[in-house]
Amino acid sequence: RRRPPLSAAEAVEGVRAGNRTLLARAITLIESRAAAHRKVAAEILRDCLPWTGNSIRIGITGVPGAGKSTFIERFGLDLCEAGHRVAVLAVDPTSAVSGGSVLGDKTRMEDLSRHPGAFIRPSPAGGTLGGVAARTRETLLLCEAAGYDVILVETVGVGQSEVAVRTMVDFFLLLQIAGAGDELQGIKKGVIEMADAILVNKADGENQIRAEIARGEYARVLHYLSPFTPGWVPQALACSALDGTGVAAVWELIGNFREVLKEKEMWESRRREQNVQWFHSLLKDAVLAQFYESAVAEELPRLETAVAGGRVSVTEAVQSLVDPGATRNREESGY
Ligand code: GDP
Repeated sequence: RRRPPLSAAEAVEGVRAGNRTLLARAITLIESRAAAHRKVAAEILRDCLPWTGNSIRIGITGVPGAGKSTFIERFGLDLCEAGHRVAVLAVDPTSAVSGGSVLGDKTRMEDLSRHPGAFIRPSPAGGTLGGVAARTRETLLLCEAAGYDVILVETVGVGQSEVAVRTMVDFFLLLQIAGAGDELQGIKKGVIEMADAILVNKADGENQIRAEIARGEYARVLHYLSPFTPGWVPQALACSALDGTGVAAVWELIGNFREVLKEKEMWESRRREQNVQWFHSLLKDAVLAQFYESAVAEELPRLETAVAGGRVSVTEAVQSLVDPGATRNREESGY
């Protein structure tokens, strides 16, 4: 049986009431690229906007196998038990490339997904990293309007997606495991530099000592890097997501982080900066899309051939596309 389409008013009311089914349907509209859905999606976002901003936004990254989902389940359940409402989102653009998704399998975080205080949404499928990140960011706002006060945004720490997630969260956590070098773990130095904390996971059993050594090493590395978040010295912790040891300390650290940033009036200012970045990034995407859909873009194949053959310079070719008037004038004047 087909459901009648969701109206913006209905969606906003449902989201505001914390109705998970309606929240999920609203997100589906946001994720849809169908032109018919864009208008209602924009209305939903606009009307939810006044209720956004009241969460702590936490990014979590680490290579596959580091223990992200095990950690998120444990961390999320603890928070839910303490009365928080926790939303888990993911940014995984690999689905666009491989058809499968590193973060997408449905069996993950089963206990958390059953908790009434939690909401788990897998990465939007398909599209570019920019598109996936854009939809996740809007989803984050809807979750805030729905009353989730802790938003966890998970991503795989092996590519550009960490940068995208970093720009949408307050606190960025890198999960590592002891014993494997950073290169083995596929972690780029840049990712370490973006972290507000490094968490060495699997600090249990025989691995405990090695994990503690690794934690010490990361603490030294972080000490010498200039902090990504001004005013905050990144910390290295160790935990076992499996048995729960050290997981509560992560939440304490994040609380501490928030206090420090609020004291220095950095909390809101960073979010404002992130909004401006976000605006520019959307604008860039929109202008590009508009260009490629425009009639001017029909000139592209001809110009490609001309450029390849050296008959037209690249500068000239670009100019003729972005400022056809000027080119025409030059042609008319016998240039
Ligand atoms: P993800 O790919 O980063 O999401 O990693 P998973 O959470 O799926 O964990 C990968 C494997 O490591 C699973 O077999 C987990 O049971 C195991 N694992 C995760 N956390 C811990 C931990 O704290 N200690 C131990 N010993 N194993 C862990």
